[in-house]
Amino acid sequence: MEPTAPTAEDLVHLRRCVELAREALDAGDEPFGSVLVAPDGAVLREERNRTGGGDQTRHPELDLARWAAAHVPADARPACTVYTSGEHCPMCSAGHAWVGLGRIVYAGSTAQLAEWRSGQAPGPVAPLPIGAVAPDLPVSGPAPELADELRELHARAAARG
Ligand code: ZN
Repeated sequence: MEPTAPTAEDLVHLRRCVELAREALDAGDEPFGSVLVAPDGAVLREERNRTGGGDQTRHPELDLARWAAAHVPADARPACTVYTSGEHCPMCSAGHAWVGLGRIVYAGSTAQLAEWRSGQAPGPVAPLPIGAVAPDLPVSGPAPELADELRELHARAAARG
């Protein structure tokens, strides 16, 4: 499925994800934040990147998938949406799909992140879009309204090394 554009309602949750990304960066982690939202719009759980402690799998999207597996009935997960400041990496796309969560909405795409982080050493995982890992998931993004703020957060992260 090709990603669609985020809606005005989506932007409310995406702005919160960017706030969480800023909190993560300020705490010494990488600038990524995510929110799990129920079908009625209620926020079920917020998470942010926590890789600063040395565990490089502590991405918020994977933590939300595992939280959902423990706390949301399996038949309710497909109707839940995960909002995130940066498009899921392959690890998180797989975790999201394996626990049966629904739509993903991201503020910045994997392609944008690669551009913003050009000049840095590439990570050990291929920068695949969500659709290449979980082709049946409905996906929306990126949100051009948030690109400048995200670029600034990633520039700060890069400068810190
Ligand atoms: Zn990830």
